[in-house]
Amino acid sequence: MISITSISSMHEYINTNKNKGKTVGFVPTMGYLHDGHLSLMQEAREKNDLAFASIYVNPTQFGPNEDFNRYPRDLERDKDLLAKVGIDCLFTPISEEMYPKGYRTYVEVETLSTKLCGHSRPGHFRGVTTIVCKLLNIIKPTSAYFGQKDIQQVTIIKKMVTDLNIGCLIEVMPTVRDKDGLALSSRNIYLNKEERLQAAFIYKALKKAEAMILNEERDCNRIIAEISNIISQCSLARIDYIKICDLENLEHLDLITNHAIITIAVFFGKTRLIDNITVTVIPLQ
Ligand code: AMP
Repeated sequence: MISITSISSMHEYINTNKNKGKTVGFVPTMGYLHDGHLSLMQEAREKNDLAFASIYVNPTQFGPNEDFNRYPRDLERDKDLLAKVGIDCLFTPISEEMYPKGYRTYVEVETLSTKLCGHSRPGHFRGVTTIVCKLLNIIKPTSAYFGQKDIQQVTIIKKMVTDLNIGCLIEVMPTVRDKDGLALSSRNIYLNKEERLQAAFIYKALKKAEAMILNEERDCNRIIAEISNIISQCSLARIDYIKICDLENLEHLDLITNHAIITIAVFFGKTRLIDNITVTVIPLQ
């Protein structure tokens, strides 16, 4: 695996390979890799001639009181994991090049980026779309791979790619979970033993919601109340939000009639965990 830090070297490498007519699959990450990230890497590896990854803890997507400084980092371990799954090229840009002195340009997908997590983390998605847009411009991949775990992020990135005519396919891969159902996340390392045990209730609550819907419940308030009940049994959990929204426009739903996302954000101490499931129903007679 080749490791590249400077944008000019990346351009050179990309141009050489693109000139040879190769397809490039790309997975942007913030590192501290787990099996969720690696599932995206494997897909990029299998579906393309070349597989690229990036590791960059992007400062512009963190709020002033968030965990940018303490975000977990272990580049050497990550490099080993990436080499093992057959990644050809790792890009680890530096902030001096990504956001040089006098940097002024940001990409914002209106409306979608202020809902759900955007409400609790103002400016977060502006940072995400800006860095993803820059990375797609630098690497110019054929396809880029994202996880359903961050479903709002995927929805927003798809919209950005369409609106800005970025010629890249956006592929979404299922959420990878621990044995007890907790979605894998680099932030799970912040959880203490008791918080980690209780965090499994997030997925239990989502599965309960899914069961209610299978049982023909369509009323979002009743489903949300049940999820809230289950999470409230966890003494260490503080619910940020529980929402049921339309899969395309993220608008709040009162009744599930078609495709919906059930999405949750919960704090355990200072650690904010997110998860979601999607459901598709056929209209009841
Ligand atoms: P991050 O390093 O947290 O920015 O995540 C990089 C990519 O990995 C994003 O597209 C995430 O949605 C994806 N990802 C994170 N956790 C998981 C998971 N548990 N399962 C699948 N994809 C994930």
